[in-house]
Amino acid sequence: MVITEMDRADCLALLQKCRIGRLACSASDQPYVIPISFVVDGGYIYSFSLTGQKIEWMRQNSKVCLQADELENKRNWRSVIVYGRYEELPDRIGTKVQRDRAWALLSQHAQWWEPGGLKPVAEAPAPHLFYRISIDEVTGRKARPIA
Ligand SMILES: Cc1cc2nc3c(=O)[nH]c(=O)nc-3n(C[C@H](O)[C@H](O)[C@H](O)COP(=O)(O)OP(=O)(O)OC[C@H]3O[C@@H](n4cnc5c(N)ncnc54)[C@H](O)[C@@H]3O)c2cc1C
Repeated sequence: MVITEMDRADCLALLQKCRIGRLACSASDQPYVIPISFVVDGGYIYSFSLTGQKIEWMRQNSKVCLQADELENKRNWRSVIVYGRYEELPDRIGTKVQRDRAWALLSQHAQWWEPGGLKPVAEAPAPHLFYRISIDEVTGRKARPIA
């Protein structure tokens, strides 16, 4: 097996394809990793969520990391890591254009709202929101079997 670096264009292309990744945030010295659905556009990752632990933590500390991959098997895979900052897109003047963009991108996919819009049944309803993560830095590695 050989492992090589991916350039930025390859990393962004993989992120476009994946649509599901693991978002890492941290607060009070405690990391938290969580699966999310997302779309990529113009240097940003867009997603939809109810309020909860990850949103509270990203409001406290906007520095986040997202990992996504395409795994064919243990010797044939691609993986990307994004370093960026959380930015909430509230429904008000100043973020309306970005919020509309998030909705337009996410709503191209069937049942786009379901994973971010539902909580365990016992919990009280929480407000939903759109957010984005700036792609400040991205790294990628891929593995291929040696022919
Ligand atoms: C494939 C996939 C796609 C998803 N897409 C989205 C999305 O686009 N947007 C979105 O908001 N959510 C998505 N989810 C759900 C997401 O992983 C979280 O469960 C959800 O967002 C609640 O996170 P929270 O921090 O608000 O948790 P809270 O409801 O505030 O609960 C926090 C507590 O629940 C535990 N917990 C929360 N989520 C999980 C989990 N997934 N697994 C194990 N323990 C958990 C935490 O450890 C903590 O103890 C997706 C999940 C999957 C599997």
